[in-house]
Amino acid sequence: MYGNVILVGAGPGDPGLLTQKGRQALEQAQVVVFDRLVSPAIMALIPPQAELIDVGKESSHHLVPQDQINQILLNKALEGKRVVRLKGGDPFMFGRGGEELELLQEHGIPFQVVPGVTSALSVPAYAGIPVTHRDFCSSLHIVTGHAKAGAELHIDFEALRRTGGTLVFLMGVSALPKICQGLLDAGMEPEMPAAVVERGTLPKQRKVISTLAELPRKAAEEKIKSPAIIIVGKVCQLSDRFDWFDNLPLKGKEVVVTRPADRSGTLSERLRQLGANVTDYPCIRTVPRDPSPELEQAIASLERFSWLVFTSPIGPDIFFGRLNAAGKDARALAGLKLAAIGPKTASALAQYGLKADLVPDTYDSAHLAQAMAQVDGEVLLCRASKGSNALPEIFSKNGIPFSDVPCYDTVYENPDPTPVLELLKEPVLVTFTSASTVRGFVESLHGADISKVLGCCIGDQTAAEAKKYGISVVTAREATIESLMECIKEV
Ligand code: SAH
Repeated sequence: MYGNVILVGAGPGDPGLLTQKGRQALEQAQVVVFDRLVSPAIMALIPPQAELIDVGKESSHHLVPQDQINQILLNKALEGKRVVRLKGGDPFMFGRGGEELELLQEHGIPFQVVPGVTSALSVPAYAGIPVTHRDFCSSLHIVTGHAKAGAELHIDFEALRRTGGTLVFLMGVSALPKICQGLLDAGMEPEMPAAVVERGTLPKQRKVISTLAELPRKAAEEKIKSPAIIIVGKVCQLSDRFDWFDNLPLKGKEVVVTRPADRSGTLSERLRQLGANVTDYPCIRTVPRDPSPELEQAIASLERFSWLVFTSPIGPDIFFGRLNAAGKDARALAGLKLAAIGPKTASALAQYGLKADLVPDTYDSAHLAQAMAQVDGEVLLCRASKGSNALPEIFSKNGIPFSDVPCYDTVYENPDPTPVLELLKEPVLVTFTSASTVRGFVESLHGADISKVLGCCIGDQTAAEAKKYGISVVTAREATIESLMECIKEV
């Protein structure tokens, strides 16, 4: 049985610009053949067991020649694999997608194409340039500025000028002076607005807005490098007015997110939406205890307790998993009052049709402990094996009987520190959502200099832990992700 090949456009860089269909293809891939322009956040969607083949090419020194790429796709499909060929932007827009299909078609390999968001349109959009604004032009022309090594550019500049339309050049950085000169020689006015946009749609996007005559000099001054696109036309003059991307509150800020891999999604995504350059660096992982004799025992004698307390959203999931395994359901909690450390934990309970009787005003253990200082009856705490001491202390002090049941362990992930070590050389924001993320972060770096880290902490206990390591901190007003986001925006 043959496999198949799906050519997938990965979009221009912003991972949010991958299409839904592209994402589905990646999630089901057994082999992914990719190149340089694909962002890490998109690569992270690929299942860990899939084979990754890097055929990344830099202009002028191709890593893997095109016919070899074609052959790899064919061979993997002949092995029966589901192959995704992941390409920057759109696969057919100067992407050699057509060439890659020829060999597959000749061998009767089934293939599909998932178009992508091309840089030719999206990069101007992120630079505030509406490429076909009606007041300025009535056509758009997308041109390659790439010439074979040593060869001259084959561009009909006169024809391009006559269209009066917006011109977009891909792969044109090294030929920028020749392109601009060609247009000037063809009679285009030197004052024609023009732009070059480097690493468009990414947090490190840079743009140079100028005139046709001045653009090469200005781009050279700014040391603009590939990947970048060149835009020539009156529409470029709108770029400052419509500069939404450069004006995002976190544009270009480096943020390291230390949350567990399974829960970092929303925080990282929201930071990216605000323009931050997010490095996902999961430092801890929660591992449910299995078996968990203490929890099983507690579940066998639930009627003993009058309160059941959860200190994180994973707590209810683990508890109800065990309850179910013991052949019981939510009715076993009928006589119990429920406490949740914060709104996320309360909504985890709501998933099981239960309403928390108590959520403290400030979402941390110290405030939860305060709020529970006068409760009657025995308390069952379902939480991490190494939880904060605030709750046990207050219960002991006030003579309230309690069982502190370890439901899960927090283990350090020890991620590869290389990308973070690089970031530590400059001021960098690091989000900490628990004291254990602070410890996991520091441990993973093996004594590297963390003096330029600004810890953005979810609450006081997390901040106290960061300070122990000499990390400067800012603390969210409320212990929620929303509040942490606000705090990061204000930094
Ligand atoms: N198929 C791709 C283009 C491949 S050619 C697409 O549809 O976008 C590679 C060229 O695309 C680069 O030399 C550059 O000109 C442009 N390009 C790709 N991604 C870019 C980005 N994020 N910012 C600026 N230019 C980009």
